[in-house]
Amino acid sequence: MIDFELSEDHKAIRQAVREFATKEVAPHIKELDEKQHFDRSILDKMAELGFLGVCIPEEYGGAGFDYISLGIVCEELEAVDTFLRVIMSVHTGLHSLTLLTWGTEEQKRKYLVPAARGEKIATYGLTEPGAGSDVIGARSTARREGNEYVLNGEKMWISLGDVADNFLFFCWTDEEKRRQRDHTGMSCFIVERSMPGFSSGTIHGKLGIRAGNTGYFSLQDVGVPKENLLGEEGEGFKIAMFALEQGRYTVAAGATGLIRAARDASIAYAKERETFGTKIANHQLVKQKIAEMEADFQMCHLLCLHAGYLKNAGLPNARAASLAKWQATVRSEKAASMAIEIHGANGYTNDYPVERYLRNCKAAVIYEGTRDIHTLMQADWALGLKQEKPARCTLPAWKLAHTREALAAD
Ligand SMILES: Cc1cc2nc3c(=O)[nH]c(=O)nc-3n(C[C@H](O)[C@H](O)[C@H](O)COP(=O)(O)OP(=O)(O)OC[C@H]3O[C@@H](n4cnc5c(N)ncnc54)[C@H](O)[C@@H]3O)c2cc1C
Repeated sequence: MIDFELSEDHKAIRQAVREFATKEVAPHIKELDEKQHFDRSILDKMAELGFLGVCIPEEYGGAGFDYISLGIVCEELEAVDTFLRVIMSVHTGLHSLTLLTWGTEEQKRKYLVPAARGEKIATYGLTEPGAGSDVIGARSTARREGNEYVLNGEKMWISLGDVADNFLFFCWTDEEKRRQRDHTGMSCFIVERSMPGFSSGTIHGKLGIRAGNTGYFSLQDVGVPKENLLGEEGEGFKIAMFALEQGRYTVAAGATGLIRAARDASIAYAKERETFGTKIANHQLVKQKIAEMEADFQMCHLLCLHAGYLKNAGLPNARAASLAKWQATVRSEKAASMAIEIHGANGYTNDYPVERYLRNCKAAVIYEGTRDIHTLMQADWALGLKQEKPARCTLPAWKLAHTREALAAD
């Protein structure tokens, strides 16, 4: 049976996140955005409240909830500001869920537990100055020397890149396969900021997500123990794609929250502002914009619930997560733009939040697969040129035997 009713746990999570975001962040967000200041204490508070490990099993330091809960956290956070949701996307979605599925028991104890508790902050380093959509265009390398690997490379456009403690680093371990563009030559390593040869910086001058940190990092002959190889040598590309399937779900849920915020701000303004002797809410073309935002919000909410449901059930979900991410991000841009129009000239200033929504939402159309990449993937699935893969991680049913069978068969 399909159930659209949220559980009591889900409702309590929504309430807790909404209260945190509206009381503790919303009053300061204009200033944080203006100053382009990443306030680490907000992240620490999110950790304290258990958001960062919301869907990580309790035995690994998390709260043990499911994917729907993760979606709720993301939707509520981005309804206040995108930078809050980005923390969930990289730390919990791209990093922790990936360690949960691919990590050894030792790696989970060492890196997943402190991440779920929020004692260490982690992110995901795939993109390079010369390689974004074209993942196998990456140049970073690792070479085995005795009991360690020596890592070299530059990663660019990394959310939390200048503040995170730990990083997933994707690179080539097979030079011949790199030349042949054979992705089975890529591997993934867990890297710590404290390792000699690591350096990082912050990217300035961004269009949006100004209250967040977006950075770059460089590894110069960084020696990491062989135990920090995630998965097997040659599984890096597979791991990177798995991580993106988790991250895309969080991005979709967040973008849905942004549509909701744009709709709510527009409704409030339309009920106040008068032109031609009546509230602008009475003008049909203003109503049309609000109706479109409402439709987009409901549609994207359902797409996210569908993707979350498939993930919880351990069913193939890459296609659903991609669809939700593509549609929610594109529609969030449309909603933010229409919200500015409803606000007229006022919408063009930061006296109102809607201009921030427009600046913030654009990046999500680009990262975790651009609009173009998702369009092509959806076409290929529809045309039968691309097949769904078995799900690799399910929550809270991730322990189910059928999931392990799916993993082994993949
Ligand atoms: C704010 C922000 C945060 C980010 N955070 C992270 C992070 O935490 N970790 C990380 O690893 N990366 C991160 N990224 C990087 C992001 O994932 C990449 O920017 C994205 O994958 C696109 O790559 P690119 O910028 O190199 O664009 P390109 O790949 O160079 O694409 C340029 C244009 O060409 C189009 N294009 C490219 N290839 C094709 C094709 N085959 N068919 C059709 N069109 C195509 C694209 O759609 C796009 O319009 C972040 C980016 C931003 C902006």
